[in-house]
Amino acid sequence: MPAVWHPGAVIAHPGFFPAKHSRQRRGSILGRRRSAEPAGRPEGEVGTIRKDWGGRLPVALIYPNRYPVAMSNLGFQALYGLLNAEEDIVCERVVWEEGGATPRSLESGRPLADFPVWAFSVPFELDFFHLVSLIRRAGIPLWAEERAPGDPLLLGGGVALSANPEPIAPFLDAIGMGEGEGLLPGILGALREGASREERLVALSRVEGVYLPAHPGPRPVCRQWVRDLSRFATTSVVLTRQAEFGDVFLVEISRGCRWGCRFCLAGYLTRPPRYRPLETLRPQFEMGLRHRRRIGLLGAAVSDHPELDHIVQTILDLGGGFTVASLRADRVTSLLLEGLRRSGTRTLTLAPEAGTARLRTAIQKGLEAEALLRAAAMARQAGIRRLKLYFMVGLPGEEDTDVTGIHELVKEVRDIFRPGRITLNVAPFVPKAHTPFQWAPMAPAPLLEDRLRRLRREVAQLGVTVEPESVAWSRIQGVLARGDRRLAPVLASMESPSLSAWRHALVAAGLTEEAYLREREHDEAFPWEVVDAGVRREILWQEWEKARQNEGGKPCPEEPGCRSCGVCAANEPG
Ligand code: SF4
Repeated sequence: MPAVWHPGAVIAHPGFFPAKHSRQRRGSILGRRRSAEPAGRPEGEVGTIRKDWGGRLPVALIYPNRYPVAMSNLGFQALYGLLNAEEDIVCERVVWEEGGATPRSLESGRPLADFPVWAFSVPFELDFFHLVSLIRRAGIPLWAEERAPGDPLLLGGGVALSANPEPIAPFLDAIGMGEGEGLLPGILGALREGASREERLVALSRVEGVYLPAHPGPRPVCRQWVRDLSRFATTSVVLTRQAEFGDVFLVEISRGCRWGCRFCLAGYLTRPPRYRPLETLRPQFEMGLRHRRRIGLLGAAVSDHPELDHIVQTILDLGGGFTVASLRADRVTSLLLEGLRRSGTRTLTLAPEAGTARLRTAIQKGLEAEALLRAAAMARQAGIRRLKLYFMVGLPGEEDTDVTGIHELVKEVRDIFRPGRITLNVAPFVPKAHTPFQWAPMAPAPLLEDRLRRLRREVAQLGVTVEPESVAWSRIQGVLARGDRRLAPVLASMESPSLSAWRHALVAAGLTEEAYLREREHDEAFPWEVVDAGVRREILWQEWEKARQNEGGKPCPEEPGCRSCGVCAANEPG
Protein backbone atom coordinates (compact mmCIF):
# COMPACT_ATOMS: atom_id res chain seq x y z
CA MET A 1 0.00 0.00 0.00
CA PRO A 2 1.45 3.38 -0.87
CA ALA A 3 1.95 5.52 2.17
CA VAL A 4 2.10 9.29 2.43
CA TRP A 5 4.79 9.65 5.01
CA HIS A 6 6.39 12.85 6.06
CA PRO A 7 9.07 13.16 8.70
CA GLY A 8 6.77 12.91 11.65
CA ALA A 9 3.76 11.26 13.18
CA VAL A 10 2.01 11.14 16.47
CA ILE A 11 3.15 9.11 19.45
CA ALA A 12 0.71 10.46 21.95
CA HIS A 13 -2.67 9.81 20.51
CA PRO A 14 -5.59 8.42 22.45
CA GLY A 15 -6.56 6.18 19.55
CA PHE A 16 -9.79 5.67 17.70
CA PHE A 17 -11.93 5.38 20.75
CA PRO A 18 -15.35 6.85 21.36
CA ALA A 19 -14.80 8.69 24.61
CA LYS A 20 -12.93 11.88 25.17
CA HIS A 21 -11.57 11.02 28.57
CA SER A 22 -9.94 7.78 27.52
CA ARG A 23 -12.31 5.24 28.95
CA GLN A 24 -10.80 1.82 28.96
CA ARG A 25 -13.09 -1.06 28.38
CA ARG A 26 -12.45 -3.98 30.67
CA GLY A 27 -12.55 -6.43 27.78
CA SER A 28 -9.69 -4.78 25.95
CA ILE A 29 -7.72 -3.81 29.05
CA LEU A 30 -7.00 -7.29 30.15
CA GLY A 31 -6.86 -8.95 26.83
CA ARG A 32 -10.13 -10.77 27.27
CA ARG A 33 -10.74 -12.19 23.86
CA ARG A 34 -14.20 -12.94 22.65
CA SER A 35 -14.16 -16.55 21.63
CA ALA A 36 -14.82 -15.77 17.96
CA GLU A 37 -11.83 -13.43 17.75
CA PRO A 38 -8.65 -14.68 16.16
CA ALA A 39 -5.37 -14.90 18.05
CA GLY A 40 -2.79 -12.16 17.79
CA ARG A 41 -1.10 -13.01 14.48
CA PRO A 42 -1.53 -10.93 11.35
CA GLU A 43 -3.51 -12.66 8.67
CA GLY A 44 -4.60 -10.90 5.54
CA GLU A 45 -2.79 -7.68 6.41
CA VAL A 46 -2.33 -5.01 3.77
CA GLY A 47 0.60 -2.65 4.20
CA THR A 48 2.93 -4.82 6.30
CA ILE A 49 6.49 -3.50 6.00
CA ARG A 50 9.25 -6.09 5.84
CA LYS A 51 12.83 -4.92 5.63
CA ASP A 52 16.13 -6.70 5.61
CA TRP A 53 18.00 -6.41 8.91
CA GLY A 54 21.39 -6.09 7.25
CA GLY A 55 23.11 -2.83 8.21
CA ARG A 56 20.01 -1.45 9.89
CA LEU A 57 19.11 -0.70 13.51
CA PRO A 58 16.27 -3.05 14.54
CA VAL A 59 13.56 -1.36 16.62
CA ALA A 60 10.72 -3.34 18.20
CA LEU A 61 7.58 -1.20 18.34
CA ILE A 62 5.53 -2.66 21.16
CA TYR A 63 1.87 -2.25 22.00
CA PRO A 64 1.04 -3.75 25.39
CA ASN A 65 -2.34 -5.12 24.43
CA ARG A 66 -3.87 -7.55 21.98
CA TYR A 67 -3.32 -7.35 18.25
CA PRO A 68 -6.84 -6.08 17.37
CA VAL A 69 -6.50 -3.28 19.92
CA ALA A 70 -2.99 -2.40 18.78
CA MET A 71 -4.00 -2.22 15.14
CA SER A 72 -6.87 0.12 16.01
CA ASN A 73 -4.50 2.65 17.55
CA LEU A 74 -3.45 5.27 15.05
CA GLY A 75 -0.50 6.45 17.15
CA PHE A 76 0.97 2.95 17.03
CA GLN A 77 0.32 2.66 13.31
CA ALA A 78 1.81 6.08 12.63
CA LEU A 79 5.02 5.28 14.49
CA TYR A 80 5.37 2.05 12.55
CA GLY A 81 5.25 3.91 9.26
CA LEU A 82 7.44 6.71 10.48
CA LEU A 83 10.21 4.51 11.83
CA ASN A 84 10.25 2.35 8.73
CA ALA A 85 10.46 5.45 6.56
CA GLU A 86 14.01 5.79 7.91
CA GLU A 87 16.38 3.93 5.59
CA ASP A 88 18.70 2.77 8.38
CA ILE A 89 15.93 1.53 10.71
CA VAL A 90 13.98 -1.71 10.54
CA CYS A 91 10.90 -1.52 12.74
CA GLU A 92 8.80 -4.57 13.55
CA ARG A 93 5.68 -4.78 15.72
CA VAL A 94 5.27 -6.76 18.91
CA VAL A 95 1.94 -7.06 20.71
CA TRP A 96 0.89 -8.58 24.00
CA GLU A 97 -0.78 -11.96 23.80
CA GLU A 98 -2.41 -14.16 26.36
CA GLY A 99 -0.33 -16.99 27.77
CA GLY A 100 3.31 -17.07 28.69
CA ALA A 101 4.91 -17.39 25.28
CA THR A 102 8.09 -15.54 24.38
CA PRO A 103 7.06 -12.30 22.63
CA ARG A 104 8.00 -12.29 18.95
CA SER A 105 7.72 -9.69 16.25
CA LEU A 106 4.81 -9.93 13.85
CA GLU A 107 6.99 -9.38 10.77
CA SER A 108 9.99 -11.70 11.11
CA GLY A 109 8.96 -13.74 14.14
CA ARG A 110 12.23 -12.88 15.88
CA PRO A 111 12.18 -12.94 19.70
CA LEU A 112 11.75 -9.52 21.28
CA ALA A 113 15.09 -9.89 23.07
CA ASP A 114 16.86 -9.86 19.67
CA PHE A 115 15.99 -6.18 19.18
CA PRO A 116 18.56 -3.71 20.58
CA VAL A 117 15.92 -0.96 20.85
CA TRP A 118 12.38 -1.38 22.16
CA ALA A 119 9.77 1.36 21.84
CA PHE A 120 6.61 0.95 23.91
CA SER A 121 3.49 2.85 22.86
CA VAL A 122 1.30 3.07 25.97
CA PRO A 123 -2.01 4.92 25.68
CA PHE A 124 -3.74 3.54 28.78
CA GLU A 125 -2.69 3.05 32.40
CA LEU A 126 -4.05 -0.47 32.67
CA ASP A 127 -1.70 -1.54 29.91
CA PHE A 128 1.13 -1.10 32.44
CA PHE A 129 0.43 -4.68 33.55
CA HIS A 130 1.07 -6.02 30.07
CA LEU A 131 4.20 -3.93 29.67
CA VAL A 132 5.66 -5.62 32.75
CA SER A 133 4.65 -9.05 31.51
CA LEU A 134 6.21 -8.45 28.07
CA ILE A 135 9.58 -7.47 29.57
CA ARG A 136 9.50 -10.52 31.82
CA ARG A 137 8.57 -12.93 29.07
CA ALA A 138 11.32 -11.55 26.85
CA GLY A 139 13.82 -12.66 29.48
CA ILE A 140 15.65 -9.41 30.18
CA PRO A 141 15.87 -7.74 33.62
CA LEU A 142 12.63 -5.95 34.47
CA TRP A 143 14.34 -3.15 36.39
CA ALA A 144 16.33 -0.75 34.21
CA GLU A 145 19.08 -0.45 36.82
CA GLU A 146 19.77 -4.19 36.57
CA ARG A 147 20.33 -4.19 32.83
CA ALA A 148 23.79 -4.91 31.48
CA PRO A 149 25.56 -3.11 28.59
CA GLY A 150 24.44 -5.84 26.17
CA ASP A 151 20.75 -5.56 27.07
CA PRO A 152 18.23 -3.70 24.89
CA LEU A 153 17.41 -0.04 25.39
CA LEU A 154 13.78 0.37 26.48
CA LEU A 155 11.98 3.53 25.35
CA GLY A 156 8.38 4.52 26.08
CA GLY A 157 5.80 7.01 24.87
CA GLY A 158 2.06 7.50 24.58
CA VAL A 159 -0.65 9.37 26.43
CA ALA A 160 -0.45 7.38 29.68
CA LEU A 161 3.31 7.90 29.95
CA SER A 162 3.19 11.56 28.92
CA ALA A 163 0.60 12.11 31.65
CA ASN A 164 2.38 10.24 34.43
CA PRO A 165 5.23 7.81 33.78
CA GLU A 166 6.17 7.30 37.43
CA PRO A 167 4.50 3.94 38.28
CA ILE A 168 6.52 2.22 35.54
CA ALA A 169 9.42 4.64 35.20
CA PRO A 170 11.92 2.26 36.89
CA PHE A 171 11.32 -0.31 34.11
CA LEU A 172 12.15 2.05 31.24
CA ASP A 173 15.41 3.65 30.17
CA ALA A 174 13.95 6.74 28.49
CA ILE A 175 10.48 8.17 27.89
CA GLY A 176 9.43 10.60 25.17
CA MET A 177 6.89 13.17 26.35
CA GLY A 178 4.39 14.35 23.76
CA GLU A 179 3.94 14.06 20.03
CA GLY A 180 6.14 11.95 17.81
CA GLU A 181 6.65 14.56 15.12
CA GLY A 182 8.49 16.72 17.61
CA LEU A 183 10.27 13.91 19.43
CA LEU A 184 11.37 11.38 16.88
CA PRO A 185 14.05 13.32 14.98
CA GLY A 186 15.93 13.96 18.23
CA ILE A 187 15.47 10.42 19.52
CA LEU A 188 16.62 8.85 16.25
CA GLY A 189 19.59 11.19 16.18
CA ALA A 190 20.58 10.03 19.67
CA LEU A 191 20.21 6.36 18.72
CA ARG A 192 22.49 6.89 15.72
CA GLU A 193 24.99 8.87 17.74
CA GLY A 194 25.78 6.08 20.18
CA ALA A 195 26.71 2.48 19.53
CA SER A 196 26.22 1.16 23.06
CA ARG A 197 23.35 1.37 25.55
CA GLU A 198 25.29 3.82 27.68
CA GLU A 199 26.30 6.05 24.77
CA ARG A 200 22.73 6.18 23.54
CA LEU A 201 21.43 7.06 26.99
CA VAL A 202 23.91 9.91 27.24
CA ALA A 203 22.83 11.16 23.82
CA LEU A 204 19.14 10.83 24.76
CA SER A 205 19.71 12.93 27.87
CA ARG A 206 20.31 15.89 25.56
CA VAL A 207 17.09 15.47 23.56
CA GLU A 208 14.29 17.95 24.26
CA GLY A 209 11.22 16.18 25.64
CA VAL A 210 13.02 13.00 26.70
CA TYR A 211 12.83 11.93 30.34
CA LEU A 212 15.44 9.60 31.79
CA PRO A 213 13.87 7.99 34.88
CA ALA A 214 17.27 7.04 36.32
CA HIS A 215 18.56 10.60 35.95
CA PRO A 216 15.66 13.04 36.32
CA GLY A 217 16.87 16.57 35.75
CA PRO A 218 16.26 19.55 38.02
CA ARG A 219 13.42 20.81 35.82
CA PRO A 220 10.36 19.05 34.40
CA VAL A 221 10.61 17.71 30.87
CA CYS A 222 8.47 19.75 28.47
CA ARG A 223 5.80 17.96 26.47
CA GLN A 224 6.52 18.34 22.76
CA TRP A 225 3.86 19.23 20.22
CA VAL A 226 3.83 20.55 16.68
CA ARG A 227 2.21 23.75 15.54
CA ASP A 228 1.44 22.87 11.92
CA LEU A 229 -0.26 19.51 11.52
CA SER A 230 -0.64 19.95 7.78
CA ARG A 231 3.07 19.16 7.39
CA PHE A 232 2.32 15.59 8.39
CA ALA A 233 -0.11 12.88 7.37
CA THR A 234 -1.36 10.56 10.09
CA THR A 235 -3.31 7.69 8.59
CA SER A 236 -3.63 3.91 8.78
CA VAL A 237 -0.50 2.14 7.58
CA VAL A 238 -1.46 -1.51 8.02
CA LEU A 239 -5.01 -2.61 7.33
CA THR A 240 -6.45 -5.77 8.79
CA ARG A 241 -9.96 -7.07 9.25
CA GLN A 242 -8.86 -8.26 12.68
CA ALA A 243 -8.59 -4.70 14.02
CA GLU A 244 -11.49 -3.40 16.06
CA PHE A 245 -12.15 -0.88 13.28
CA GLY A 246 -10.85 -3.12 10.52
CA ASP A 247 -13.33 -2.00 7.90
CA VAL A 248 -12.25 1.65 7.92
CA PHE A 249 -9.16 3.57 6.86
CA LEU A 250 -8.24 5.93 9.70
CA VAL A 251 -7.33 9.54 8.98
CA GLU A 252 -6.52 12.02 11.73
CA ILE A 253 -8.20 15.29 10.73
CA SER A 254 -7.55 17.23 13.92
CA ARG A 255 -5.66 17.05 17.17
CA GLY A 256 -6.45 18.63 20.51
CA CYS A 257 -9.77 19.97 21.72
CA ARG A 258 -10.85 23.51 22.45
CA TRP A 259 -13.59 22.86 25.00
CA GLY A 260 -11.48 22.38 28.13
CA CYS A 261 -13.65 19.72 29.79
CA ARG A 262 -12.12 19.59 33.25
CA PHE A 263 -12.08 15.79 33.52
CA CYS A 264 -10.52 15.16 30.14
CA LEU A 265 -6.92 14.01 29.91
CA ALA A 266 -6.99 13.82 26.12
CA GLY A 267 -8.24 17.40 25.95
CA TYR A 268 -5.57 18.82 28.24
CA LEU A 269 -2.68 16.69 27.04
CA THR A 270 -3.19 17.39 23.34
CA ARG A 271 -3.65 21.15 23.57
CA PRO A 272 -3.86 23.31 21.56
CA PRO A 273 -6.60 22.38 19.07
CA ARG A 274 -5.22 22.04 15.54
CA TYR A 275 -6.98 21.16 12.30
CA ARG A 276 -5.70 19.69 9.07
CA PRO A 277 -6.98 21.62 6.06
CA LEU A 278 -9.17 19.75 3.60
CA GLU A 279 -6.69 20.28 0.78
CA THR A 280 -4.10 18.16 2.62
CA LEU A 281 -6.68 15.57 3.68
CA ARG A 282 -8.11 14.91 0.24
CA PRO A 283 -5.15 12.79 -1.03
CA GLN A 284 -5.33 10.78 2.19
CA PHE A 285 -9.03 10.10 1.63
CA GLU A 286 -8.31 9.07 -1.96
CA MET A 287 -5.61 6.69 -0.82
CA GLY A 288 -7.80 5.24 1.93
CA LEU A 289 -10.76 4.68 -0.36
CA ARG A 290 -8.59 2.55 -2.61
CA HIS A 291 -8.41 0.05 0.24
CA ARG A 292 -11.56 0.54 2.28
CA ARG A 293 -15.07 1.73 1.58
CA ARG A 294 -15.14 4.03 4.59
CA ILE A 295 -12.83 6.60 6.18
CA GLY A 296 -12.64 6.76 9.97
CA LEU A 297 -12.34 10.46 10.81
CA LEU A 298 -10.20 10.79 13.88
CA GLY A 299 -9.52 13.59 16.33
CA ALA A 300 -10.24 14.53 19.93
CA ALA A 301 -13.08 16.77 18.70
CA VAL A 302 -13.85 15.86 15.09
CA SER A 303 -17.07 17.87 15.02
CA ASP A 304 -15.16 21.11 15.72
CA HIS A 305 -13.29 20.92 12.44
CA PRO A 306 -14.15 24.16 10.62
CA GLU A 307 -14.37 22.34 7.27
CA LEU A 308 -16.21 19.26 8.49
CA ASP A 309 -19.18 19.59 6.14
CA HIS A 310 -16.79 19.98 3.19
CA ILE A 311 -14.75 17.02 4.39
CA VAL A 312 -17.88 14.89 4.52
CA GLN A 313 -19.02 16.06 1.09
CA THR A 314 -15.58 15.38 -0.38
CA ILE A 315 -15.57 11.79 0.87
CA LEU A 316 -19.10 11.22 -0.44
CA ASP A 317 -18.16 12.78 -3.80
CA LEU A 318 -15.21 10.39 -3.99
CA GLY A 319 -17.73 7.57 -3.75
CA GLY A 320 -16.79 6.60 -0.20
CA GLY A 321 -18.35 6.71 3.21
CA PHE A 322 -17.11 7.78 6.60
CA THR A 323 -17.53 7.14 10.27
CA VAL A 324 -16.68 9.01 13.45
CA ALA A 325 -16.08 7.79 16.98
CA SER A 326 -18.32 10.37 18.62
CA LEU A 327 -19.72 13.83 18.00
CA ARG A 328 -20.53 16.84 20.13
CA ALA A 329 -24.31 16.99 20.25
CA ASP A 330 -24.38 20.74 19.60
CA ARG A 331 -22.27 20.32 16.45
CA VAL A 332 -24.40 17.70 14.75
CA THR A 333 -25.67 18.81 11.35
CA SER A 334 -28.18 17.29 8.94
CA LEU A 335 -25.47 16.88 6.31
CA LEU A 336 -23.30 15.00 8.77
CA LEU A 337 -26.10 12.66 9.80
CA GLU A 338 -27.25 12.09 6.25
CA GLY A 339 -23.66 11.34 5.29
CA LEU A 340 -23.30 8.88 8.15
CA ARG A 341 -26.50 7.13 7.13
CA ARG A 342 -25.44 6.95 3.49
CA SER A 343 -22.11 5.53 4.69
CA GLY A 344 -23.89 2.67 6.37
CA THR A 345 -23.40 3.97 9.91
CA ARG A 346 -26.31 2.91 12.07
CA THR A 347 -25.10 4.22 15.44
CA LEU A 348 -24.53 7.78 16.59
CA THR A 349 -22.39 8.25 19.70
CA LEU A 350 -22.81 11.31 21.89
CA ALA A 351 -21.22 12.07 25.25
CA PRO A 352 -23.35 14.25 27.56
CA GLU A 353 -21.20 12.95 30.47
CA ALA A 354 -23.51 14.31 33.21
CA GLY A 355 -27.27 14.35 33.76
CA THR A 356 -27.89 17.92 34.92
CA ALA A 357 -27.01 21.33 33.54
CA ARG A 358 -25.39 22.26 36.86
CA LEU A 359 -22.96 19.35 36.74
CA ARG A 360 -22.26 19.74 33.03
CA THR A 361 -21.32 23.35 33.77
CA ALA A 362 -19.10 22.30 36.67
CA ILE A 363 -17.18 19.86 34.49
CA GLN A 364 -17.03 22.47 31.69
CA LYS A 365 -18.88 20.23 29.27
CA GLY A 366 -20.83 23.25 28.07
CA LEU A 367 -23.66 21.24 26.57
CA GLU A 368 -27.35 22.10 26.84
CA ALA A 369 -29.93 19.34 27.20
CA GLU A 370 -31.80 20.91 24.29
CA ALA A 371 -28.80 20.30 22.04
CA LEU A 372 -28.81 16.62 22.95
CA LEU A 373 -32.54 16.31 22.31
CA ARG A 374 -32.21 18.15 19.01
CA ALA A 375 -29.37 15.85 17.94
CA ALA A 376 -31.46 12.79 18.86
CA ALA A 377 -34.40 14.09 16.83
CA MET A 378 -32.19 14.84 13.83
CA ALA A 379 -30.59 11.41 14.07
CA ARG A 380 -33.98 9.71 14.05
CA GLN A 381 -35.09 11.75 11.05
CA ALA A 382 -31.86 10.87 9.26
CA GLY A 383 -32.50 7.17 9.73
CA ILE A 384 -29.89 6.49 12.41
CA ARG A 385 -31.22 3.54 14.37
CA ARG A 386 -29.00 3.37 17.41
CA LEU A 387 -27.82 5.98 19.84
CA LYS A 388 -24.95 5.43 22.24
CA LEU A 389 -24.70 7.84 25.15
CA TYR A 390 -21.69 8.21 27.44
CA PHE A 391 -22.10 9.29 31.04
CA MET A 392 -19.96 9.26 34.15
CA VAL A 393 -20.82 8.76 37.79
CA GLY A 394 -18.77 9.97 40.74
CA LEU A 395 -17.88 13.33 39.19
CA PRO A 396 -16.69 15.95 41.69
CA GLY A 397 -19.71 17.61 43.29
CA GLU A 398 -22.13 14.96 42.02
CA GLU A 399 -25.27 14.49 44.08
CA ASP A 400 -28.14 12.02 43.95
CA THR A 401 -30.14 14.53 41.93
CA ASP A 402 -27.50 14.39 39.19
CA VAL A 403 -27.98 10.64 38.89
CA THR A 404 -31.73 11.22 38.75
CA GLY A 405 -30.91 13.77 36.06
CA ILE A 406 -29.28 11.08 33.91
CA HIS A 407 -32.44 9.00 34.16
CA GLU A 408 -34.66 11.96 33.27
CA LEU A 409 -32.48 13.07 30.38
CA VAL A 410 -32.31 9.57 28.94
CA LYS A 411 -36.10 9.30 29.22
CA GLU A 412 -36.51 12.48 27.18
CA VAL A 413 -34.05 11.24 24.59
CA ARG A 414 -35.81 7.86 24.48
CA ASP A 415 -39.17 9.54 23.83
CA ILE A 416 -37.70 11.52 20.95
CA PHE A 417 -35.60 8.73 19.48
CA ARG A 418 -38.29 6.03 19.45
CA PRO A 419 -38.32 3.43 17.96
CA GLY A 420 -34.52 3.58 17.79
CA ARG A 421 -32.42 1.72 20.33
CA ILE A 422 -30.37 3.48 22.99
CA THR A 423 -27.35 2.17 24.85
CA LEU A 424 -25.90 3.92 27.86
CA ASN A 425 -22.24 3.51 28.72
CA VAL A 426 -21.62 4.64 32.27
CA ALA A 427 -18.08 4.89 33.62
CA PRO A 428 -16.85 5.82 37.08
CA PHE A 429 -15.04 9.15 36.91
CA VAL A 430 -11.26 8.73 37.24
CA PRO A 431 -9.25 11.86 38.17
CA LYS A 432 -6.33 12.35 35.79
CA ALA A 433 -3.00 14.15 36.07
CA HIS A 434 -2.56 17.49 34.25
CA THR A 435 -6.29 18.23 34.34
CA PRO A 436 -8.11 20.58 36.74
CA PHE A 437 -9.50 17.47 38.44
CA GLN A 438 -6.01 16.26 39.36
CA TRP A 439 -6.84 17.54 42.86
CA ALA A 440 -10.20 15.74 43.01
CA PRO A 441 -10.88 12.63 45.05
CA MET A 442 -12.19 9.54 43.33
CA ALA A 443 -15.59 8.59 44.70
CA PRO A 444 -15.67 5.65 47.15
CA ALA A 445 -16.39 2.26 45.61
CA PRO A 446 -19.68 1.66 47.49
CA LEU A 447 -21.06 5.00 46.28
CA LEU A 448 -20.07 4.26 42.68
CA GLU A 449 -21.51 0.75 42.84
CA ASP A 450 -24.72 2.10 44.33
CA ARG A 451 -25.13 4.75 41.64
CA LEU A 452 -24.38 2.31 38.84
CA ARG A 453 -26.85 -0.21 40.29
CA ARG A 454 -29.48 2.47 40.57
CA LEU A 455 -28.96 3.62 37.00
CA ARG A 456 -29.01 0.10 35.69
CA ARG A 457 -32.29 -0.57 37.45
CA GLU A 458 -34.05 2.68 36.57
CA VAL A 459 -32.78 3.17 33.05
CA ALA A 460 -33.42 -0.46 32.15
CA GLN A 461 -37.10 0.23 32.85
CA LEU A 462 -37.01 2.71 29.97
CA GLY A 463 -36.02 -0.09 27.62
CA VAL A 464 -32.50 1.32 27.40
CA THR A 465 -29.46 -0.95 27.64
CA VAL A 466 -26.91 0.03 30.27
CA GLU A 467 -23.24 -0.91 29.95
CA PRO A 468 -21.49 -0.04 33.21
CA GLU A 469 -17.71 0.05 33.46
CA SER A 470 -16.01 -1.86 36.25
CA VAL A 471 -15.68 0.12 39.48
CA ALA A 472 -12.77 -1.99 40.74
CA TRP A 473 -10.72 -1.61 37.56
CA SER A 474 -11.56 2.08 37.32
CA ARG A 475 -10.10 2.53 40.80
CA ILE A 476 -6.92 0.73 39.78
CA GLN A 477 -6.76 3.01 36.77
CA GLY A 478 -7.17 5.92 39.19
CA VAL A 479 -4.30 4.71 41.38
CA LEU A 480 -1.96 4.34 38.41
CA ALA A 481 -3.04 7.64 36.82
CA ARG A 482 -1.92 9.61 39.88
CA GLY A 483 0.56 7.09 41.21
CA ASP A 484 4.24 7.22 42.04
CA ARG A 485 7.26 4.92 41.90
CA ARG A 486 6.17 2.99 44.98
CA LEU A 487 3.74 1.24 42.62
CA ALA A 488 6.53 -0.24 40.52
CA PRO A 489 7.26 -3.06 43.03
CA VAL A 490 3.51 -3.72 43.17
CA LEU A 491 3.36 -4.18 39.40
CA ALA A 492 6.59 -6.19 39.44
CA SER A 493 5.28 -8.60 42.06
CA MET A 494 2.13 -9.53 40.13
CA GLU A 495 2.24 -12.66 38.02
CA SER A 496 -0.89 -11.69 36.11
CA PRO A 497 -3.36 -8.81 36.30
CA SER A 498 -6.28 -9.80 38.47
CA LEU A 499 -8.15 -7.91 41.16
CA SER A 500 -7.05 -10.32 43.87
CA ALA A 501 -3.39 -10.20 42.77
CA TRP A 502 -3.52 -6.40 42.76
CA ARG A 503 -5.02 -6.17 46.23
CA HIS A 504 -2.57 -8.69 47.62
CA ALA A 505 0.42 -6.91 46.07
CA LEU A 506 -0.76 -3.51 47.27
CA VAL A 507 -1.14 -4.72 50.85
CA ALA A 508 2.24 -6.47 50.71
CA ALA A 509 3.82 -3.16 49.68
CA GLY A 510 2.13 -1.37 52.59
CA LEU A 511 0.04 0.79 50.23
CA THR A 512 -3.66 1.54 49.94
CA GLU A 513 -5.83 2.65 47.05
CA GLU A 514 -7.34 5.35 49.24
CA ALA A 515 -3.98 7.08 49.67
CA TYR A 516 -3.79 7.57 45.90
CA LEU A 517 -7.46 8.30 45.29
CA ARG A 518 -7.83 10.94 48.01
CA GLU A 519 -8.36 14.64 47.39
CA ARG A 520 -4.99 16.34 46.93
CA GLU A 521 -3.69 19.41 48.74
CA HIS A 522 -3.37 22.72 46.94
CA ASP A 523 0.42 22.92 47.28
CA GLU A 524 1.13 19.22 47.16
CA ALA A 525 4.01 18.19 44.91
CA PHE A 526 2.73 15.67 42.39
CA PRO A 527 4.75 12.70 41.10
CA TRP A 528 3.67 13.50 37.54
CA GLU A 529 5.22 16.95 37.66
CA VAL A 530 8.35 15.44 36.15
CA VAL A 531 6.42 16.42 32.99
CA ASP A 532 5.47 19.97 32.09
CA ALA A 533 2.39 19.40 29.94
CA GLY A 534 2.16 23.10 29.14
CA VAL A 535 -0.88 24.33 31.07
CA ARG A 536 0.25 26.39 34.05
CA ARG A 537 -0.53 24.89 37.44
CA GLU A 538 -2.32 28.00 38.67
CA ILE A 539 -4.66 27.82 35.67
CA LEU A 540 -5.53 24.22 36.51
CA TRP A 541 -6.14 25.22 40.13
CA GLN A 542 -8.39 28.13 39.09
CA GLU A 543 -10.41 25.72 36.95
CA TRP A 544 -10.69 23.30 39.88
CA GLU A 545 -11.89 26.14 42.11
CA LYS A 546 -14.48 27.17 39.53
CA ALA A 547 -15.69 23.60 39.26
CA ARG A 548 -16.25 23.52 43.00
CA GLN A 549 -18.33 26.70 42.67
CA ASN A 550 -20.32 25.16 39.78
CA GLU A 551 -18.90 27.79 37.47
CA GLY A 552 -18.12 27.15 33.84
CA GLY A 553 -14.97 28.20 32.05
CA LYS A 554 -13.93 29.36 28.62
CA PRO A 555 -12.99 27.17 25.70
CA CYS A 556 -9.95 28.03 23.59
CA PRO A 557 -10.92 31.01 21.43
CA GLU A 558 -11.27 30.37 17.71
CA GLU A 559 -9.13 33.38 16.86
CA PRO A 560 -5.33 33.01 17.01
CA GLY A 561 -3.15 34.83 19.53
CA CYS A 562 -4.43 33.34 22.79
CA ARG A 563 -1.81 32.90 25.52
CA SER A 564 -4.12 32.32 28.44
CA CYS A 565 -3.23 28.81 29.67
CA GLY A 566 0.45 28.75 28.75
CA VAL A 567 0.48 26.04 26.09
CA CYS A 568 0.55 28.22 22.99
CA ALA A 569 3.42 30.30 24.31
CA ALA A 570 5.84 27.43 24.74
CA ASN A 571 7.19 24.10 23.50
CA GLU A 572 6.54 24.75 19.86
CA PRO A 573 9.16 22.82 17.96
CA GLY A 574 7.68 23.40 14.53
S1 SF4 B 1 -3.09 29.19 25.16
FE1 SF4 B 1 -5.26 29.62 24.67
S2 SF4 B 1 -5.62 28.65 22.64
FE2 SF4 B 1 -3.67 27.83 23.46
S3 SF4 B 1 -4.31 25.92 24.46
FE3 SF4 B 1 -4.28 27.51 26.04
S4 SF4 B 1 -6.41 28.32 26.12
FE4 SF4 B 1 -6.18 27.13 24.20
